[in-house]
Amino acid sequence: MTIFHLSTECYPVAKVGGLADVVGALPKYQNKIKDINAKVVMPWYNKQFVYDYDFETVFDGFIHQGSNMLQVQVLKERTNVLGFELYMVKIPGLLDRENPYGYQDESFQFLAFQQGILHWLSAMKIRPDVLHCHDYHTGLVPFMIENCPEFDFLKGVKTIGTIHNGEYQGMMRWDMANYMPAFDQYKWGLLDWNGFINPLASMIKCCHAFTAVSEGYLEELFVSFHGLESLVREEFSKAFGIINGIDTEVWNPQTDPMIDFNFNSKNVLKVKNKNKERLCKEYGLNPNLPLYAFIGRFATEKGADLLPDVIWRSIKQSFGGLNIIVLGSGNAYLEQQLKELDSVYSNFASDLGYKEHLSHKIYASADFLLMPSRVEPCGLNQMYAMRYGTIPVVTYTGGLKDTVKDISTGGSGLNFTYPGVDDIVHAMSRGLQIYKDRSKMEELILSNMKFDFSWEKSAEKYIALYKN
Ligand code: ADP
Repeated sequence: MTIFHLSTECYPVAKVGGLADVVGALPKYQNKIKDINAKVVMPWYNKQFVYDYDFETVFDGFIHQGSNMLQVQVLKERTNVLGFELYMVKIPGLLDRENPYGYQDESFQFLAFQQGILHWLSAMKIRPDVLHCHDYHTGLVPFMIENCPEFDFLKGVKTIGTIHNGEYQGMMRWDMANYMPAFDQYKWGLLDWNGFINPLASMIKCCHAFTAVSEGYLEELFVSFHGLESLVREEFSKAFGIINGIDTEVWNPQTDPMIDFNFNSKNVLKVKNKNKERLCKEYGLNPNLPLYAFIGRFATEKGADLLPDVIWRSIKQSFGGLNIIVLGSGNAYLEQQLKELDSVYSNFASDLGYKEHLSHKIYASADFLLMPSRVEPCGLNQMYAMRYGTIPVVTYTGGLKDTVKDISTGGSGLNFTYPGVDDIVHAMSRGLQIYKDRSKMEELILSNMKFDFSWEKSAEKYIALYKN
């Protein structure tokens, strides 16, 4: 069975968030299953990876976007170094940039990406068994292969859509239809949602099956999905919740080259603290106090806007009895607020930007990881934290609900129901009580490290779904 994963991100080539981690790991684990050949197709980016590895051009052609003719090249990484075949679609002017997102003309970018992929596959007569589309950036593929005569060769190929983040749907005004490959006009309803072309809605309508990245998140989509909930209810028979796994080869505290002192469940109680001491020293924090950490995009869905209040309230309420470190970026106002707090409170440190190495060091050092998410489709941070012996303090929502149980119900994390400052600070104070009880703390560290979040089970579930 040949599967092409279509995605704008893939770790370690280009990463903005969890999508990259999933697409960099799932195909690798799928390829360990007999008779499965999973590959990844992503846009070409001007990133270090494309210079570090050797690529061959496997396709060179043209597509039309409105009256513009665009050159399309497909480059394949020669050695399959990532554990799967990696193809990058290069379109000068649109798909040759530094980053996946943040450009004014993103609708043109993603349209060209999708059209480029389908043009290449049709022209080269490559007919995969499954096209697996990830998020709205590739959400028009199921529509295009059924309704654009240009891609008749691919008609009938099975399509799966995965919703990693339903907050973003990629809505476009209808005049963008002029830049799409020609399609049967009577089928416009398969693109439309409330008067806009909505790629995520179109994916749900046109794919053979769609998945959400946890069962908890899928349940939420039926109730609240920025206007798409009625569509999900309508299409419920092809909806599935499959929880993400983590790449236990990359995220392994015993071998992780990005952390200062490697450890495993046998020596964690001695060694983890050395990482903490090193990190605290670097950021001017007191290693004898419990360390809370936040890692993530500064987005409302992550509850990042709550951080300033959470920081000063928890420091005040505990009489300076804890440390907090924040790694993230994304909202200029919040970044400014955090910088100011950083200069005022010695118990608080922030590092603003995207820093893969530092994130690993923080997971390896922190006592608690804070995730005050308002929406969390799956969440990977809590799983990385647990694997590195860190206790997650999380909102009881989406994938967090599926992966972190509160200690009061026999779990090894801390939950709060509502992501508001009072509830978060209260959960943090429960954490402080646990921290004081050394034997309880050690028991939680060890039980968290034992959780099996590896991809094997979920990779099998996707294969079963493809076969179905
Ligand atoms: P999302 O994809 O919604 O951002 P996830 O929890 O699924 O959230 O995945 C987040 C991933 O991005 C994790 O691997 C996390 O460690 C990483 N990450 C987020 N922000 C940063 C940052 N500023 N520096 C390094 N890694 C980050």
